Amino acid sequence: MPNRRPKLSPPPSDADARRAVKPVICYPPETLPTPQGLGPATPTGSITTHIAPPREAATFLAKAGQTIRITSIDGPQVGDLNLWNVQDLSERFFSGKTRALHGTHVTTGDILWSNLPHLRPMATVTYDSLDWYGIDAYGGAVHDVIGTRCDPYTNALLNAGDQYHHCCHSNLTRALADHTGLPLHEAETHIHDVLNVFMCTGFTHDTGQYFMKASPVRPGDRLEFRAEIDLLGALSACPGGDCGAEHSSDTTPCYPLQIEIFDTDHTATHQPPDPNAYTRNHGR
Ligand SMILES: [Zn+2]
Repeated sequence: MPNRRPKLSPPPSDADARRAVKPVICYPPETLPTPQGLGPATPTGSITTHIAPPREAATFLAKAGQTIRITSIDGPQVGDLNLWNVQDLSERFFSGKTRALHGTHVTTGDILWSNLPHLRPMATVTYDSLDWYGIDAYGGAVHDVIGTRCDPYTNALLNAGDQYHHCCHSNLTRALADHTGLPLHEAETHIHDVLNVFMCTGFTHDTGQYFMKASPVRPGDRLEFRAEIDLLGALSACPGGDCGAEHSSDTTPCYPLQIEIFDTDHTATHQPPDPNAYTRNHGR
């Protein structure tokens, strides 16, 4: 691979000492809300089912306190997830702060946070059938909040203007436009960085580059999360399939993803999260 990052600056005499400084965790999680009700969810009533077809997205609604279950069916498949406050689309999932608070990948017990100025729990991961995977020898793990979503702009940038219309960004845009009635280009502005459900990714140890590898997900695997507020969601079955080879094309085997929404014992007594405590005075 050509070296795109030449080192132009000689190391100082104390370079080794500077590198040896021990890291500290930026955001110790001890004061975050303690996740409740973890474990596989048991539906107590009817189940609403949606299917995200291969290389397409589906939207879904979930009331605060309901469980959302995303299941791999038919074959290994990665999904790109967006979440909004159903009453206010400007409040949406904040993958960057979720990453900073919990880590590069989310699993059982982690919270999915909303963007500033809201910054409150949108959903809590209550069960992850892949939480056995951990972090592999390459530094890879499952359900990442580091990749943004595959999109046609990056594809055009890297591939001489190639026009591909079934990247997750476009799939989510069409699904949100269909759900809301918004014009396509307005719906597009609400699409945001995703939770990459079932995707196995990391950063290379030597160059720090974002990598993906074939997901360990198999049919029957599922990720469950509880809606903390009333949610509108959209899930795209990524054109990358299991993301073991490439995305932004129609060459990879691709499978549907199933989304189920249902009540549990928790739903009737659910307490929505408090608004964020910051005054928004910004010092004035
Ligand atoms: Zn994708």
